Amino acid sequence: MDGTSRMFAPFADKECTKSVSISDAILAFMPFDKLTEIVKNNASVINNKELHGHTSLHKAALRGDPKITELLIQNGANIHATNDYGETAFHFSCKQGSVVNLYALLKSGADATFRDTMGRSGMHHAACGGSVVAMHYLATVLDIPYDDVDFGGVTPLHLASSQGFQDAIKYLLRKERSDARFKDSNGNIALHYACTTGLTETVWTLVEFGGCGTLTEANSNGQTPMNILSEGKTRSHAYIRSQMESLTDAKDPRKPPSGPLLSWFVMLLVPAVSLVNIVFTGYLFRGYSGLVVTILTVILFSYIIKQNHRLPHMSRWSNPVYAGAFGAGIFHTGVVYILLTNDPGACQTSRNSNSHLEEYTTVDHIAKGQCDIIDFCVTCEIIPPERVKHCKICQKCFYDHDHHCLFLLTCIARNNHRSFIFFLLLTSLLHALFSAQAGIYLILSHLGGDMAWMQFFSIIFFKEGWLNMLIAGNILSIFWELTVVSAQFLVISRGLTATYRPSGWNSKYKMTTRDQVNNICYFLKGKRTYTARDLYHTNVV
Ligand SMILES: [Zn+2]
Ligand SMILES: [Zn+2]
Repeated sequence: MDGTSRMFAPFADKECTKSVSISDAILAFMPFDKLTEIVKNNASVINNKELHGHTSLHKAALRGDPKITELLIQNGANIHATNDYGETAFHFSCKQGSVVNLYALLKSGADATFRDTMGRSGMHHAACGGSVVAMHYLATVLDIPYDDVDFGGVTPLHLASSQGFQDAIKYLLRKERSDARFKDSNGNIALHYACTTGLTETVWTLVEFGGCGTLTEANSNGQTPMNILSEGKTRSHAYIRSQMESLTDAKDPRKPPSGPLLSWFVMLLVPAVSLVNIVFTGYLFRGYSGLVVTILTVILFSYIIKQNHRLPHMSRWSNPVYAGAFGAGIFHTGVVYILLTNDPGACQTSRNSNSHLEEYTTVDHIAKGQCDIIDFCVTCEIIPPERVKHCKICQKCFYDHDHHCLFLLTCIARNNHRSFIFFLLLTSLLHALFSAQAGIYLILSHLGGDMAWMQFFSIIFFKEGWLNMLIAGNILSIFWELTVVSAQFLVISRGLTATYRPSGWNSKYKMTTRDQVNNICYFLKGKRTYTARDLYHTNVV
C-alpha cells in the first residue's frame, strides 16, 4: 500500500505538524513527505511508549508499509522494542501478514526467533491474524516451525482454530504441517478451541483431518468438544452438535466423517428425475398436458437457479445441481433420440384386398395374377400397401417412407417425419448460435483497434486452428441442413416424401401455391397432407 496516496484532512495542514505525534501521523495516512518532517522533528521521542506500551514502530507495522518502517529505523527507532505483552514490531507484522514489512524489519536486524511474554513466536502471531503468506514466509525462508508451542503448549493451529481462519487452518493441516490431535498443557486439541467459539466450517475441517474420535477427546478437566458444544449458548453450537452427534460412535476414531453423500446425490439427480416425472405427470392431465408441463418446468427451473454453489451442510461441499441439470439436458437429448427413433411407422400388414371375403391381399393373389410378383416384400412377407417402402438396412417396411437417416440410424417415415424436420431446424439454429458466439470470441480476443482484416485472419489462422475447424464444420452443417430442410418442404408441400418424388412432377403437375402452403401447415400440425392426385384426380403418383 502506498502511504502517500491517502490523506486525512485534520493533518493536511503543514502548520500543525509539530503538535502531532508520530503514531497519530502514521495511523492517519499522512503524506510521506509530511510524515518524514514529523519524524525528524520528534526523533528524540521516537521510542516513547504509548497505550499498552506500543511504540511508533508497532504502529508502522500495523500500517504494513516498509517505507515508513525504514524511515523510523533511520531516525533511531528501536527495532527490538516490546509492548506490555512482550510483542515486537516483527510480531505485529506477522499478525498483519505484511511480508514486505517483515523483510524491511529483518534487513535492519530484527530477531525472527524472539518470543513474547506468553512464549509465542512469529508463527503464532501469523496464525492469530490468519495470514497464510506470513506463515509460509516464516517457515520456508526463516525456518520457524509450524508446530511451535508457547509456554502453555498452545500451537499456531490452536490459535487459528479459535478464530476460524479457514485458509490458515487448512494450510497448517495440509502436508502434515500440524497435528489436529496435538494437546496444549490443559489437554485441549484444536477442536476444543473451535467448539468453544462455535465455528461450523472449522469444526468440520478439524474433524476431517483429526478423525471422528477427536469429538470425544477429553481435556485435563474431562471436557470433550461435544461437552463444550452442549454448553454453548448460540444456535450454531446447537447446530454443530446435532450434525456431529452421529459421528461420535464411529468404529475407527481416526476415520474422517463421510460428508453429505446422500444430499449430494439427491441434488445431482433432482433435475433429471424431476424432468421425467414432469413428463409423466403431463400424461395424467391429457388435454392440459402442455399447460401442466410448462408450469412444473418453470417451478423446477426456478428451484434450480435458486440453488447455492455449496450444499447447505457444514462440510460446505460443492452443490452438484448444475452438473445434474447439464446431465439432465444430455439425458433429455437421449429421451428425444429414443422418441425420434422409436417406430418410424413400420407396416406389418399387406394392402387391402379388393375381395370382400379377405381383408388383405396374400401370395395367392400374386399366383392368380391379381398382384405383381415384384410387389411382394420377401423380408416382411407382405404385399405392401401404397406408399409403403421396404428399407433393407432397417429390414422393415415403412408407411410414407422418406429416407434412411444415417445420422439417427433409423428410417424417417410417417411417425417421425415431423420430429425430423423440427430436429433439423433446431440443430441448424444451434450451429448458427455456436458459429456466431465463436466469431464474436475471435473478434474480441484477436482483433485490435487499427488492425487490418487480413492481419486478423492470418492471426486466427495460425493461432485458433481448433476453433476455426469447429466454425467451418458448423457453417457447412448449417448449409447442408438448410438444403435438406428446403428440399423437404418442397416435397411436403406436394403431399409427398423424398421416396415418392416422381420425376418431372414439378413442371408437369402444378399445384396451387395455396394448396402447397396448406400442405406445409397440415404437416407442421401433424395432420395428413394431400397430393395433386388427391386434390385434382390426376395420376401424379
Ligand atoms: Zn418389407
Ligand atoms: Zn431404414
